[in-house]
Amino acid sequence: MLLDTARAMRVLQWLKEGHVSDVALRQGLWGEVSDRVRRLVREREQQAQASEKRLQAFLAALQASPNGLVLLDARGRIEWFNQTAAAHFGFDVQRDLFQHFVNLVRDPGFATYYASGDFSRPVVMPGREHTPARPVRLSVHLHPYAEGRQLLLSRDVTQFEQADAMRRDFVANVSHEIRTPLTVLAGFVETLQSLPLDEAQRSRYLDLMAQQSQRMETLVNDLLVLSRLEGSPLPSEAEWVGVPRLLHYLENEARALSTVLSESGVPGHQFTFDITQNLDISGAHSELQSAMSNLINNSVRYTPNGGELRVQWRLDDHGRAEFTVTDTGPGIAPEHIPRLTERFYRVDRSRSRDTGGTGLGLAIVKHVAQRHGAELKIESTLGKGSRFVLVFPAARVRTRLDD
Ligand code: ADP
Repeated sequence: MLLDTARAMRVLQWLKEGHVSDVALRQGLWGEVSDRVRRLVREREQQAQASEKRLQAFLAALQASPNGLVLLDARGRIEWFNQTAAAHFGFDVQRDLFQHFVNLVRDPGFATYYASGDFSRPVVMPGREHTPARPVRLSVHLHPYAEGRQLLLSRDVTQFEQADAMRRDFVANVSHEIRTPLTVLAGFVETLQSLPLDEAQRSRYLDLMAQQSQRMETLVNDLLVLSRLEGSPLPSEAEWVGVPRLLHYLENEARALSTVLSESGVPGHQFTFDITQNLDISGAHSELQSAMSNLINNSVRYTPNGGELRVQWRLDDHGRAEFTVTDTGPGIAPEHIPRLTERFYRVDRSRSRDTGGTGLGLAIVKHVAQRHGAELKIESTLGKGSRFVLVFPAARVRTRLDD
């Protein structure tokens, strides 16, 4: 009995001390009891470790989420948040855990949303880093879950909102650009229908109508070029475009345009085409034609009669191919230059319209350049002239040996 009690005491002491990994007794019934307890404890420990590991893996996955995640307790206090949420709201783990979310994020829109209790939709609010010059917009959505707790999800929707605004602007611009010639055309139709006109007047009206429909056609064509550029696969690197031949064709086109604009039957500009005859690049013929003709025709259109135009096609010192158009036109003020490739951006609206511009030319050039890995450089001095350069990467260049 005494021995048994002594052993029981020893096992009890062993349990109290909690060093269960040591063995209390090796033999007898108490030995067996202590061994079972030890095994049981070890199993529990292993289970706890496995659970902890799973929890850590789970939290790591939540950390990796591109969305911000915040767990709020039933009183709206922050229990946990991931790095993305920390960046979205400017939270700090040391400072902000267990604080009330609404005390830290003081946006009136969010406060109304939180107070309403209707979380069927997200609310959009400015992010922590938001400034008028660099907007950051967050979509924040609360999802209630167990026992009054809430999961708050935040998503950066800045780019999405900007793209949406650009799309709306674009549709408004296109509608405006089409409506103007359409209104003029409708006015002429009405005049022709209602007024008795002599042959000369009729013919003048019809000419003006043709001009307006031509303007709409040019606009629609440029829009189609842009949408094709956006929707088609990147230009091949294996298809060679004979640029000298293309430039020969564009030279004739430029002289013809200059003649039309001068209204004197001869070209109003002096042209120099300085072309390296055996220099080709790989890419899409129609796209390159579109880009190069836009740059040449712009210089013709914006340079007054008597001006000079120089087109160069050459290899530079780094093996890249350089297409340059230089004119002695009005030049462009520096503040406009970064915006010239935006759709429908024009420095001088009436000059652009008078010469058949759509405001899409340089947007097309930039797009084509990007698709060919080329760089578009614009240099200009007011009152002196402009230079537009397309630099194509050496990887797209070929120098033919045959001529
Ligand atoms: P647009 O159809 O109006 O010419 P672009 O996109 O081709 O549209 O050009 C945008 C604007 O850049 C033009 O409206 C014009 O103000 C300016 N621009 C383009 N090329 C020249 C140039 N060679 N000389 C002066 N201004 C130019």
